[in-house]
Amino acid sequence: MKTGVIGLGAMGAPKARNLHKAGYLEAVWNRSHDKARQLSTELGVRVAENPVALAADCELLVLSVSADDDLLQVIRALSPGLHPGCVVLDTSTVSRDTAIQAAALAHPAAFLDAPVSGGIEGARQGTLAMMIGGEAAVIERIMPVLDTIAGRIEHMGPVGAGQATKAVNQVMAAGINQAVTEALAFATALELRLDKVIEVVGSGAAGNWFLSHRGESMTHGQLDPGFRVALHHKDLVICKQMAGQFDVALPLVEMTLI
Ligand code: NAP
Repeated sequence: MKTGVIGLGAMGAPKARNLHKAGYLEAVWNRSHDKARQLSTELGVRVAENPVALAADCELLVLSVSADDDLLQVIRALSPGLHPGCVVLDTSTVSRDTAIQAAALAHPAAFLDAPVSGGIEGARQGTLAMMIGGEAAVIERIMPVLDTIAGRIEHMGPVGAGQATKAVNQVMAAGINQAVTEALAFATALELRLDKVIEVVGSGAAGNWFLSHRGESMTHGQLDPGFRVALHHKDLVICKQMAGQFDVALPLVEMTLI
């Protein structure tokens, strides 16, 4: 299945590498040409002249851009090239409403909202958890390709259900990140050995992804952004807005946003 990737950032580039390894990658495109050129040199893959040309050439387009307006901009830019045989798989994190809007704009191509969780290491290893909204038959059609970028693939319902699930994920992630950093600061004040704390606490009921993947690097002062704070903030604004629509209180999200 001829697959194109748009958005070669921290998450998009490793997805493109895995698609290339599996023989699916047809071409890439990135807003800043440098990133596309670098990946093209590394993989020997073609850089599409523009999004329209990429859409016209591909049966599957994997998108990984920053935020809601970026996704809509990219879909509008692709639009003249989109055809009925094409599937647009958006792996960015945006709101449920934006996913529904994007699906309408992507017509006559099929659209799936397919946000992911598992960090840059999950993207590198092709083990991401992917939560998808859209038609089951479309997911079935592209399943072999999805298997190269995700380890757990779950169909959550119609378009928008993937992003709704990701919002739930982000509420949990915000609380866990807050709890882990607060607890490790507390352990530091208590003059405990952080490596031992991370190991023993991580093996018990308080064990979690953030502690095991970020605990050690954080305590060694390695703070290279895998997931930019601005993106985390964007996600929580989405959660807050969705909670408002459904009259649900999210005190933890409110606290984290302050
Ligand atoms: P990133 O490294 O900042 O990359 C963002 C990509 O989007 C870049 O290629 C950027 O192009 C492109 N882009 C942004 N605005 C655009 C626009 N208006 N038109 C065209 N391209 C545009 O971000 P990331 O970490 O890969 O995250 C991508 C998405 O995945 C986000 O929605 C994020 O919330 C989600 N996510 C991230 C992680 C993580 O751990 N990083 C995990 C799960 C989900 P330029 O190079 O030109 O700037």
